[in-house]
Amino acid sequence: MNIPVFDAHCDTILEAKAHGCGLRRNSLHVDLERGGLFAPYAQIFAIFTRPWPENVDWKNIDYSKDWPAEVLVPRCDELLKYMLSEFDKNADILTHCKSSDDAETAAKDGKVAAFIAIEGAELVGCDLKRLEAACGRGVRFINLCWNFDNALCGAANGPTKSGLTRQGADYVKRMQELGVAVDLSHASERTFWDVAEITKRPIIAGHSNSKAVCDNARNLTDEQFKALVSLHGVAGINLCPDFLNESSDAGINDIMRHIEHFLALGGEKAVCLGGDLDGIDCPPKGVAGIEDYGKIYNAMLGRNYSEDLVRDIFYNNLFDVLERVL
Ligand SMILES: [Zn+2]
Repeated sequence: MNIPVFDAHCDTILEAKAHGCGLRRNSLHVDLERGGLFAPYAQIFAIFTRPWPENVDWKNIDYSKDWPAEVLVPRCDELLKYMLSEFDKNADILTHCKSSDDAETAAKDGKVAAFIAIEGAELVGCDLKRLEAACGRGVRFINLCWNFDNALCGAANGPTKSGLTRQGADYVKRMQELGVAVDLSHASERTFWDVAEITKRPIIAGHSNSKAVCDNARNLTDEQFKALVSLHGVAGINLCPDFLNESSDAGINDIMRHIEHFLALGGEKAVCLGGDLDGIDCPPKGVAGIEDYGKIYNAMLGRNYSEDLVRDIFYNNLFDVLERVL
C-alpha cells in the first residue's frame, strides 16, 4: 500500500505477552505483518502495566491510589525485556529506532521502524537513575503519568488535578537533556500548562483527541491544542470510542470530526495518528485494527484533503517532531 503510517501509541506488547502470541503475526489490533503493509510504517510501542485481574471493569477503577513502585517497576522491566526480545526475533523485518535517522534508515530498508515508550513514569519509579537506565535501553518516550497522580504530576483522571511537582520539573529537564520525548497524554491540564511553561523542546500528546468535539477528561482543550501548535508539538488521534464520541457509537466520521477540528485550529503540522490500539477494548466501527488505517486515509482523500496534508498527518508531522526532540 502506498500509504505511510507513523502511529504514536499502541499497547500491543502487554497483550502480546499476556497471550503469548508475539508481535509478528497475531489476532490483536496490531502486528508487524499487517502494519508492514504500509510503506513506510513506524510505530511507537508503549509499555503499560497494572496488576489487575483480567476483565477488569475500567469504569469502576479507583484512581485515588496506585500500586506501589515495588510492584510496578519489576513488571515494567519484564515487559521491556519481552519487547526487546520480540524486536530481536523480528530483526529481519523490524528495526529498533532511537532517532528519526534510524526511522529513515528502516524505511529505506523496507522495515518497520519501532520505538519504545513507557506509559507512566511511575513504571520506572519516577526517579532520574531509572530514567537514565531506561534511555540507555532504548526508551525514547515517556508519559509523565497514566491515570493516577504520581510523584511527578497530577493526572487527567486523578483525584487532585494538580500540576507538575518540583521533582516533575527536574524529571522533564533531564528527559529533554537525554533526548527522551515528554508525552502529556493522561496528564492533568495543570500539568500540561506547567510543562508548556518550562519545556525547551516540542511536547507531544501521543494519544489525545479534542475536548470540544468529545467532552472527556483525556481530551485536549482548544487552548491546549493551540499551545501544542505553537510549541511545534503533535497530538495523536486516539481511536478509543469513548474519546471520539460521547454516545459511544463512534465510527470513522467521528475520527474525521476530531481531525477537522484540530485542522481548523491551525493544526496542519500538529495532528498525527495515536490509535491506542490494543489499549482499547474495541476500535470504532469500520476499524478492526492497524490494517484499517487505509480506510481513514481514503476517507480524508474523499473529503478533498490534499494528499500532501493527509501524508503529513499520517507520517510526516510526527517524524518532524522526533527530528527536533530525540
Ligand atoms: Zn493511554
